[in-house]
Amino acid sequence: MQKHTKMFWARRLMTLCILRQVSSWSHEPAHNDASQPARIAVIGGGIGGTATAYFLQQHFGDDLVLDLYEHHTVGGRLAVLDIAGHSYEVGGSVIHPGNRYMVEFAEKFGLPKKEHCSDSPFGLFDGEKYMFRGSSWSIVNIMKLFWRYGRTLLTLRSELKETLTKFDRIYHLQAEGQAFSSVSDLLHALDPSFVEMTRVSVRDWFKKLGIQDLVIDELVTAVTNCNYGQTADMHAFVGAIAVAGADPDLWAVTGGNKRVPEELLKHSRATLLRRKVEEIGLNEGGGFVVTSVEAETSENGETHSLNNNVDDTEKDLRPQNYDLVVVAAPLTKDKTSIKFVNFTKDFTFPGHYQKIFCTMVHGKLRPESVKLTEGDSIDEVLITNTSLFFNSLGKQSPTEVKCTEQYPDVWKIFSGSSLRGEHLNAFFKEIESFHEVEWLAYPHYELDQQLGDFELHPGLYHLNAIEWAGSAMEMSSIGAKNVALLALKHWLQDPSAGKMAVLRDEL
Ligand SMILES: Cc1cc2nc3c(=O)[nH]c(=O)nc-3n(C[C@H](O)[C@H](O)[C@H](O)COP(=O)(O)OP(=O)(O)OC[C@H]3O[C@@H](n4cnc5c(N)ncnc54)[C@H](O)[C@@H]3O)c2cc1C
Repeated sequence: MQKHTKMFWARRLMTLCILRQVSSWSHEPAHNDASQPARIAVIGGGIGGTATAYFLQQHFGDDLVLDLYEHHTVGGRLAVLDIAGHSYEVGGSVIHPGNRYMVEFAEKFGLPKKEHCSDSPFGLFDGEKYMFRGSSWSIVNIMKLFWRYGRTLLTLRSELKETLTKFDRIYHLQAEGQAFSSVSDLLHALDPSFVEMTRVSVRDWFKKLGIQDLVIDELVTAVTNCNYGQTADMHAFVGAIAVAGADPDLWAVTGGNKRVPEELLKHSRATLLRRKVEEIGLNEGGGFVVTSVEAETSENGETHSLNNNVDDTEKDLRPQNYDLVVVAAPLTKDKTSIKFVNFTKDFTFPGHYQKIFCTMVHGKLRPESVKLTEGDSIDEVLITNTSLFFNSLGKQSPTEVKCTEQYPDVWKIFSGSSLRGEHLNAFFKEIESFHEVEWLAYPHYELDQQLGDFELHPGLYHLNAIEWAGSAMEMSSIGAKNVALLALKHWLQDPSAGKMAVLRDEL
């Protein structure tokens, strides 16, 4: 048996005393009857909603009755498709090594990283010619990049490193229990320049830092086009996320990234309600009423399309009371029809989401269609000309690949409109199968766009406000931790709550 020192027992006793204090706070009456467990609804079962449920469970412990509404598939914009007996990512596909929550989730749930079999060379293509062609030898790649873009690449690298270091402060602040009621407050706490970055284009931001036009027009534009379907006129904060996303050490989860939200949901012990929320109302006596209808499901329990607009077949409206509500889904008009009733102010959610088609083709590419020849090894073609009909074309490996195994030729093409018919025939000489997934994928970033609020009303939170700073799995996870902390502080009526709950986890 493990022996413990006196110091260990003293610390443990002290921690238990603090915990007793935490649980006595949680039994102090707040505006609700806090002697009862908190009844919380989370609306949305993507990475954001399931991470919220997980963090709420950590912070509230047993003093919680948690319902998670999902009218479609758990995972949301993290999704896989089966092609030729293998599964392939068709939504959020790569994770940055510095994304601490995603790394922690995968480690905690024992989800292995997908094997990285080859460093696929990439090319920057304007539709006519290659501005840059990489090599699968990383040293040769670096030399080629420096040959074309020069020392300005070092400036870009060090600026991104500094931005990431500042961004990392969020993990410390959240571990300390700090939470923010608006997106700009959160960004400001990391560094005041981050708010400024959301008001200037990534092009102008990088120019101000001395990055040459050639780098912006080619490298930066290709990356914003591939990752967000937008130009270097998008704001600099999300632009920096996109460029940071071009890291060579990106990773993904074996079997699909959607395994993370599935595990988060399981560990949160929330009740999954396969229902579509229609309305969130403010109750006269405090708290909220969430009204939902049953979701339309297929035989395997999932809804038919990968999009969010499921028609209601029958309106079995069911109202349910909650103390706290977290909306973990976008609220722009194009994404939802959730109504807010009885609130004294009108909520507005301006802006729209970028439509992206993800076309998966199992077949043989015509190399000449992207100005390559038969022996050329380029697995990733990124487009620098944003008026071209596609944004990127890349060879895919399955989510469960073993490097020693053979796997079919499957390609992923991102485009702003459907590629069915002539475009596909132009790209491929043989097509075994193709699948098209239409997404309203991420916000369309405008410079005059207001950054939204996490707290819509005391006790009512909107996680996806964070997407207007940047849309990524880690951003939703950070938003999830923030709204879970806001909910805890509100429930306990204690602005310092949250740090103590972290101590509880460490026991
Ligand atoms: C094609 C594509 C590629 C991407 N690539 C990357 C990448 O490589 N790396 C990365 O980090 N990110 C990537 N992203 C972005 C990333 O996937 C998203 O930022 C993230 O998944 C958003 O998660 P979320 O939980 O906040 O929202 P969502 O995943 O959209 O979840 C919201 C959920 O709410 C449900 N819902 C909505 N309304 C209701 C309602 N009324 N009632 C009940 N349920 C409702 C929806 O069905 C949905 O499941 C990509 C996205 C797309 C589309």
